[in-house]
This record gives sequence, structure tokens and C-alpha cells, in this order.
Amino acid sequence: MAGIYLHIPFCRKRCHYCDFFKSTDLSQKARLLEGLKKELESRSLELTSEEINTIYLGGGTPSVLLVDELKSLLDTIFLNYKVSSEAEITMEANPDDLSQAVLSFIREIGFNRLSMGIQSFSEQDLKLMNRRHGVMQAIQSVKWAKTAGFRNISIDLIYGLPNQTLEEWERNVQVAVQLDVQHVSAYNLTYHEGTVFYDQLKKGILKELPDELSLQQFEILIRTLKDAGFEHYEISNFCKPGFYSKHNSSYWKNQKYLGVGPSAHSFDLVSRRWNVSSIGAYLDGIENSKPYSESEILTEQDRYNDYIITGLRTIWGVSEELIKSEFSAAYLDHFQKVSEKYLQSGKVIRTSEKVSLSPEGLFISDQIMADFMVVESC
Ligand code: SF4
Repeated sequence: MAGIYLHIPFCRKRCHYCDFFKSTDLSQKARLLEGLKKELESRSLELTSEEINTIYLGGGTPSVLLVDELKSLLDTIFLNYKVSSEAEITMEANPDDLSQAVLSFIREIGFNRLSMGIQSFSEQDLKLMNRRHGVMQAIQSVKWAKTAGFRNISIDLIYGLPNQTLEEWERNVQVAVQLDVQHVSAYNLTYHEGTVFYDQLKKGILKELPDELSLQQFEILIRTLKDAGFEHYEISNFCKPGFYSKHNSSYWKNQKYLGVGPSAHSFDLVSRRWNVSSIGAYLDGIENSKPYSESEILTEQDRYNDYIITGLRTIWGVSEELIKSEFSAAYLDHFQKVSEKYLQSGKVIRTSEKVSLSPEGLFISDQIMADFMVVESC
């Protein structure tokens, strides 16, 4: 089992909070598409014995591509890889790029899951974030997606926005529930260096929401979605039963994935590889057979820390048996000592199969994960 991730590094406009690798200059779009196809073809040998069970087009904004361009990318994957007939094929999309006709075509060419960058159902917040769409456009695009035949729709939301009240946030989550989507990803706003929000914060134009309020918003999110029948399966992710994101879960479950495109990361169980975060350098590498990526072999410590960070984020937790069988004794010893500490305070839960965060532990997950990690070689 393996996944393929394609990074489409183009956006029509920069959102004020976003630090993903992207460009608003679309002049290299055609050249980049050829580059992506070339990379897909040249790296197919890395997954010859694997069945591909997830494909994910992320970005940037994949919906800036024309439907024929999207089709040619999928066709290249189908031609060069063994794609399972049951594969989850996701595309990220922004409401302002969508219409009934576009969505019907996207569904027709093989995408069966849509991840929509909605972020808020408040016009004021959308403006503050510099999003291109409005509230009605977002709601309409979810309805169109359903009419087009999408039965697996995810929406992204952001909380912890400056001045966002608890009532406003609860209304956002309620709208998501009413839209009857299968999956919600909700992220607490982070002020990343280099973004407009970060500068505005430093200049005092924006004021950070106090931590207690963000935490209360997180509680509202969990309660409202659980009441509506969603499972909270990862810190920021909720789904109706059976609708967890298979692609993202493969990252959290330590499975192989191939990342294609500028800035994309790959993992083959032994090493990590990352492509250069520059469209120009990526294309130069691809077109002229020059290196365009770096890689590193994972040490035992890297593998242990990755397993802890990803496992503790999810309801699948961390298996003590796996630590015993895959890592040297000192790692198990460290893991058990930290587990004891948090078991006593009720922040983690231990069953015969796993150690996972309790609902209380979820609120201080960063601190718990940092404690479980090993910073000096065991
Ligand atoms: S949030 Fe999405 S649409 Fe906005 S700049 Fe980032 S990648 Fe582009």
C-alpha cells in the first residue's frame, strides 16, 4: 500500500495566514505540468511492487488547473502506477474556482473525494484572511459537489481568529454540520513568520486571541461535531464513521508515499526525501537532469520520534508492542516512564493495544508529545 501526493504550487491570491509553498505567478503553469508528469514517469520504479491506494492533489490550489490539465495528471498516474480500483482520489479545491460543470467533470475523470478550503462561514473573517470566496459561494459549491456525485466531502475551517467570539465560532461549526459533509478539518490559527498576519501581529494591527478562548473554541468544535455523529480521529480531523482521510492517515500510520512537485516530501520507510521549494529550481532539475531534491536516511531516533508524533495525534495511538519489536530497549524504557507520568494525571489512556491521548491530553498535546520524544540518542 502506498500513496501519491502531487503539489500544485499555484494560488490566485495569497491568504494572510498561509505559509505553504506557493506562487501567485501562473505563467509557468504549463511547464510545471510537464515537469510533474516527467517526475511521475521517472519515479514510477520506486513503487513498482506497491499498489497505490491513495492519490492526493494538494497545494497551493489544484483547482486553478483546467479540467483537461487535471485529467492529464491523473492519466499519467494511472498509466505509470498500479492504482487500486478502490483508491481514494482527493483534490483540494477553493470555492471560487468551482461551478456545477467543473465539479461534474472533476468527478467524472476519477476524483472521488473533495477537500474544500472554506476556512470560515463569516464574510468578515473571510475578508480578514484575504480569501477570494464569499459565504454563499462556499455553501453553493458544497451543494454542487453533492449534485456532481461526490459522496466524500471534507471542509477546512480555521478557529482562533482575532476577535472571533465563541458564538461566532459555534455558528461556523453548526453550518458545517448542516451542510452534511463527511469530514471536517479544523485548525487553530498559527502566526507563521513571513505571512501578512505575522507582520500585522508584530505591528499591533492584529491581536492574538487569548489561549483560553482558543481552547474553548476547540472544546466547542469537539462537542458540536461529536453530537452530530463525527468521530474525532486526529487532533484536527473529524469524520462521519468510516470517512477518515485514507491519504492523511497513511502519513500518521507510517506508510510509504511518493511526493511529486516542488517542495513535496516522500517517505519509503527508510528515508525521507524532499523536493526543492522553488518552481524555477525544480523545473531546471527536471528538464536538465540535475538534482532537485535532498534526502536523509532516518536514524532509529528519527523513526521513534516520527512514530510518537504521528501516533499520538490519532485515535490509533502508539503501540507498546511495536516499540518493543522495532526499537532498542532504551526507547521502550523512556516510553514507559513518560506514559506512567501521564497515566497518573489522566492525560493519556492505556489499553492492551495502545497508548493514546485522553480528551484532556488533547488540549496539551504539543507538550505531551515533546515529553515522549527523545532528543538525545538513547
Ligand atoms: S491557504 Fe490555500 S489558497 Fe490560500 S494562499 Fe495558502 S495554499 Fe493558497
